[in-house]
Amino acid sequence: MELWFTEKQTEHFGITARIKQTLHTEQTEFQKLDMIETVEFGNMLVLDGMVMTTKKDEFVYHEMVAHVPLFTHPNPENVLVVGGGDGGVIREILKHPSVKKATLVEIDGKVIEYSKKYLPEIAGELDNPRVEVIVGDGFMHIAQAENEYDVIMVDSTEPVGPAVNLFTKGFYAGIAKALKEDGLFVAQTDNPWFKADLIRSVQRDVKEIFPIVKLYTANIPTYPSGMWTFTLGSKKYDPLKVEDSRFHEIDTKYYTKELHKAAFVLPRFVEELTK
Ligand code: SAM
Repeated sequence: MELWFTEKQTEHFGITARIKQTLHTEQTEFQKLDMIETVEFGNMLVLDGMVMTTKKDEFVYHEMVAHVPLFTHPNPENVLVVGGGDGGVIREILKHPSVKKATLVEIDGKVIEYSKKYLPEIAGELDNPRVEVIVGDGFMHIAQAENEYDVIMVDSTEPVGPAVNLFTKGFYAGIAKALKEDGLFVAQTDNPWFKADLIRSVQRDVKEIFPIVKLYTANIPTYPSGMWTFTLGSKKYDPLKVEDSRFHEIDTKYYTKELHKAAFVLPRFVEELTK
């Protein structure tokens, strides 16, 4: 018998993968967690029915969350990741020698536990001595931090369940307070095909708080619509004004210094969402 997993994006559209086997399934304190082995994309982490990451295409998302802000900041030393319990963003952050400390605040310890077990290529750096892992609410962590971080990355689930607060203006104001005076942040902001209103409202909110606000995209085959957006808010540094000499060699499969700038070139229907 053939088994298929579908992430429904709307009542009438979904993204589907053939399953080899289910490795683990559990209702955690915060969400339904499924780890499944797919035929095309290898092991896949699914939370509340939504694809979080897969072995085959994870590098796109993790590289684009981490390297765009880290090359925009001239000397990122202290970095925070909110969410991201699979460890992929942390793995990319550690490729930057300037980073002295990377803190991960993930609300659900089970995501960390099962990513280490079934996605070791992604989670493999979570025990690195430059990393501090905190199991807790990223919203509360941000609310208590002040003038602390050079770069903050919000690698959250969609705005349902524990991540609802992570898409509010109050959260972005907290991020501004938690950042140093020249800090910047990036948040994953879903896709422009089905979540246009979300992107528009995040842009509106972040623009009221940060002087430099930009949207960039990446192509991720296992995320709904395949086109993903990231919102960058910065107090001082413009991602489009990074001098060529600042890009050091880095081992990546998607990110390049040319793509760093090209990712900000938006199709017109996406650009409209930023106005
Ligand atoms: N790359 C994925 C995507 O865009 O589909 C998201 C990665 S997934 C690892 C996001 C993580 O955010 C989940 O493990 C979830 O538990 C965590 N999360 C959700 N709300 C959170 C909160 N309030 N504080 C900290 N982590 C949170």
